[in-house]
Amino acid sequence: MCGIIGYAGHKSAANVVVAGLKRLEYRGYDSAGIALLNGGGSLLTVKTPGKVTELEAELGAMLAEKTEAGKSGLAIGHTRWATHGEPTQLNAHPHLSPNGNFAIAHNGIIENYLAIRDRLISKGHEFRSETDSETIAHLIEEAYEGDLQAAVVTALKQLEGTYGVIVISAMHPDTLVAARSGSPIAIGIGDGETLIASDVSALISHTKRVVYLDDGDVVTVTPDNFDIVSLKDVPVTRGATEIDWDIEEIEKGGFEHFMLKEIYEQPAALTNALRGRLVHKDQTTKLSGMQMGPADLAHIDRFIIAACGTSLYAGMVGKYYLEDFASIPTDVLQAAEFRDRNPIIQRDSCMLAISQSGETADTLAALREAIRKGATVMGLCNVVGSTIAREAGRGVYLHAGPEIGVASTKSFTCQVAVLAMMSVLLGRTRRLSAEAASRMIAELARLPELAQAVIDQEPSILSIAEKYAHCEHAFFIGRGYMYPAVLEGALKLKEISYIHAEGYHAAELKHGPIALLNEDIPVIVAVPESAGKAKTIGNMQECRARKSPVIAIATEGDTDIAAHCDDLITVPRCQEFLAPIPVVIAEQLFAYHVARLRGCEIDQPKNLAKSVTVE
Ligand code: GLU
Repeated sequence: MCGIIGYAGHKSAANVVVAGLKRLEYRGYDSAGIALLNGGGSLLTVKTPGKVTELEAELGAMLAEKTEAGKSGLAIGHTRWATHGEPTQLNAHPHLSPNGNFAIAHNGIIENYLAIRDRLISKGHEFRSETDSETIAHLIEEAYEGDLQAAVVTALKQLEGTYGVIVISAMHPDTLVAARSGSPIAIGIGDGETLIASDVSALISHTKRVVYLDDGDVVTVTPDNFDIVSLKDVPVTRGATEIDWDIEEIEKGGFEHFMLKEIYEQPAALTNALRGRLVHKDQTTKLSGMQMGPADLAHIDRFIIAACGTSLYAGMVGKYYLEDFASIPTDVLQAAEFRDRNPIIQRDSCMLAISQSGETADTLAALREAIRKGATVMGLCNVVGSTIAREAGRGVYLHAGPEIGVASTKSFTCQVAVLAMMSVLLGRTRRLSAEAASRMIAELARLPELAQAVIDQEPSILSIAEKYAHCEHAFFIGRGYMYPAVLEGALKLKEISYIHAEGYHAAELKHGPIALLNEDIPVIVAVPESAGKAKTIGNMQECRARKSPVIAIATEGDTDIAAHCDDLITVPRCQEFLAPIPVVIAEQLFAYHVARLRGCEIDQPKNLAKSVTVE
């Protein structure tokens, strides 16, 4: 959830680590800290609650005095998303062992930390923080007999839970030891320098050569070398991957926020997601990563989609596609619920795990459960080489490019586009006719242009946002393909503006939530040209009869809607199945501008983190 980074090399490790923490800050950001070698063989830590810029200021002041530490080529850093103990300076990582000779930065949760802590306290250990993580530093000190890697392995063997962890020691001035169990770790191999981070975005300004650790791996790193062993002390070989992201892709490029940049990137992201996958001449799609021929595809008789948050709503659209176009019964399950409920998996069931980062802990747990139960599994991820992508072994990448803003935007629209392509492919092994598939493919090819047409509406969406930015509650309603689209719209608004927003099926309003409506609660109604339009217009009337202002998102040129709403956002005309994409882009822009007008921290909303690696 948090970000961790370690550096061993010839540059000032403090500078490298702080720059890396800024890149990682989107993963978790309630506090930050750094540990580095001080002259004279000791370790020094600086930690602050709040943003990395606060850490940077404090570190700068300290290094002005301790110039030796500033030259150190070894450091680790952490941005924290607190799970155990409040985001205070004492609880911030890195944590030192009692004698100060070992420092650790940890991402994850140690489930048996209380038992370990009690045992260590009874042996005289004193703990400085309330975190679960501090126990790791104590265990390493307890196990140390001159070999850092051996001490780390002994400590890790006592842990239950999840960790991505990096360790340094005052006695090993050019060595980092890191390990992974459930939380991602990547090694960046540079020229005379080696980095370790929870996310490649912190590595790519130094190197594009990356090695991913698997669960159970422990790596020992020096500036020129790295060695991986398993927790059972067996040597492990892992191949290097070349990262194809550019540094510009993870910078704001003149936009005020990553979220706005990523909204604007949607035409290009969709172009990339579609590239090479629409096969007009055969009236089908090509998704090589699924690694299944028509005979295998024809065997799948049920899909289980497991996902969380925005990916879950994309998954709902996917269910409609798979059922409407491929006639495959599909369940969409909140990933944690799938795992907790001991689900039934039939022989020809296929699980599709959807996660932008490919690291979402709940989705990963669902995927692993499905593998244990013998299901065919696939991943639908954006981050290449991520854990879900690797463990699923087959699936489809979005190719949407890095998504840094915590509120997912381009990933949603690309997930929906990929799910539509999957449904064409699967549909063609069943009853989807060549003509119908051909029409769908032609429409999919228009997606970049449809996305651009909505982005061009930004000025009018902004003026509507100005009218409603003061509201404290909002409802979103829609039916059919618009139902998941409004769930996503409500999620987007609450995530970044902190307005209490609820999404409902348009017909569901009258079964309870309508009791809340009044003139201070706007209702955003997704009502593009569709089979359900007439009924949704009726629902708009129900809202207006309760004095709620109605903001309609409707098809450009549709003259039926204006009379039934107070404000109108238009989206371009398209086939009904693709309407969630333009409608959600309109909702993204609305949420963005409302949040901006309310002065919210759009890219780093409170309490949220980008890559949710705790269950
Ligand atoms: N469980 C640890 C803590 O609360 C690490 C949380 C994180 O991954 O940031 O400090």
